[in-house]
Amino acid sequence: MAVSAKQDLLMVIGGEDVSAASGETVEVINPATEETVGTVPKGGSEDVDRAVEAAKQAFKAWSHLAPAERSALLFKLADALAERTQELSELEVAHTGKAIKMVVNTDVPFAHDNLRFMAGQARALEGTATGEYLEGYTSMLRREPLGVVGSIAPWNYPYMMMAWKVGPALAAGNTVVFKPASNTPLTAIEVARAAREAGFPPGVLNVVTGPGETVGAAIAEHAQVAMVSLTGNVATGSRIMMQAAPSLKRVHLELGGKAPFIVFDDADLEAAVQGAVVGGYINTGQDCTAATRVYVQQPRYEEFLERFKDAVEKIRTGDPTQMTTDMGPLISASQRDTVDGFVRGAHARGVEVVTGGSGLDGKGFYYQPTILAGAADDDEVVQKEIFGPVVVVLPFSDEDEVVARANGVEYGLASSVWTRDVFRALRVSKELAFGEVWINDHLPLVSEMPHGGVKKSGFGSDLSRYSFDEYTALKHVMADLSGKARKDWHFTLYGDQE
Ligand code: NAD
Repeated sequence: MAVSAKQDLLMVIGGEDVSAASGETVEVINPATEETVGTVPKGGSEDVDRAVEAAKQAFKAWSHLAPAERSALLFKLADALAERTQELSELEVAHTGKAIKMVVNTDVPFAHDNLRFMAGQARALEGTATGEYLEGYTSMLRREPLGVVGSIAPWNYPYMMMAWKVGPALAAGNTVVFKPASNTPLTAIEVARAAREAGFPPGVLNVVTGPGETVGAAIAEHAQVAMVSLTGNVATGSRIMMQAAPSLKRVHLELGGKAPFIVFDDADLEAAVQGAVVGGYINTGQDCTAATRVYVQQPRYEEFLERFKDAVEKIRTGDPTQMTTDMGPLISASQRDTVDGFVRGAHARGVEVVTGGSGLDGKGFYYQPTILAGAADDDEVVQKEIFGPVVVVLPFSDEDEVVARANGVEYGLASSVWTRDVFRALRVSKELAFGEVWINDHLPLVSEMPHGGVKKSGFGSDLSRYSFDEYTALKHVMADLSGKARKDWHFTLYGDQE
């Protein structure tokens, strides 16, 4: 089913539906039809100021609520959203072009699970036990919220990214100013409205829509924002660190990836082919963990490539609202141009286009599922994030070599190893310089375990209690138990020992 009514939504600031101070709006485009789905306000720094002020006003009461009360509200929100899974999935498809099969079965229910996990986590603040670590003193830890958190999200998983950012921030007692990506603002607004209906106090969760260069920058630079969390590309991450530097706010960055997918000669080839298809072309390849570099050990390389090509040519590209569609369009015409530029450039350098390699005629920003082979390790299609349905297949000879080549990129987010040899699987898992390693699969995530990268993939975790912890500050409270004016150690600084 497709969203039929035009979605003209407003921002949510201080619990109110508001237009931009400028009065301007921007159109939201359906990438599958190129039609306008609706409009949202084109926010600016004035709107960010309003939202930060509302979040600041709401912080004291929200942070002083008992964890159980925040937890109950988050559960209530997750339940209310879960009842609307079909409707919210259709809206998500309308502004992303994602295949509904994935959205309704994974993105949306997983986001609700993430919220429920954080609802539980709100009540489980962890740290070293209170105790007397120095004689005569009791030390205790407080884990406290930071204040106003600014969250800036990408367009590839708008609904899920909102849950990943807002869940831990709110659970920990922070208030939030959330900026969705300009292309995909609709579902975030719906979540903020649902939070209001669920009983979240005004100002606890605010959504400001508009361009990254203005709204995103205003959030990252704002002196009253205690932390900025971005999921986006490396260049944006770097810019946000600079924007955040003058106010020394905490920065949390989930950036790009170029995941290696390593198939050893003893692997179950059928499983590896299946895994490479789903891992490589998930979300039309617009996935930070996508298996974009498939390394296959030499004796099985040709066989793998042939079977992989057969499987990839069976991917059903088309109308994302149909449950029989495997892959929808790319997010925009410019993203399709970028992807096509990578493929054409590689072809011109002698890289083989095994299948695919061009856009589809007609409406929508579609691109064929594409396999490249024969690329050099330093080729940009091996080194850079293409963010489209393009997988590069590369042969290798031995374990040390493939580990070095897999690690030889600037990214460090996700990776996988395919082998029946448990010793090798664990050795390689240890050596891979990535925040995530799958053994004999690629992609699954769970709310209980962290997701995050190293190197230029950023730092900090999403999901799990480790993410929750990042939205808190530790405070050490140390109390004197003696009641003495002159403590035993004072002589070391003042006067003589008694
Ligand atoms: P992007 O960096 O272009 O945009 C991300 C967000 O940042 C958007 O909301 C955008 O408006 C905002 N922004 C842009 N310029 C800004 C600026 N100068 N100051 C402040 N904010 C600014 O990324 P994208 O194209 O929307 O998303 C794709 C990228 O996100 C890919 O690199 C992908 O790998 C990455 N990603 C990473 C993860 C992860 O978990 N590590 C998950 C999803 C996506």
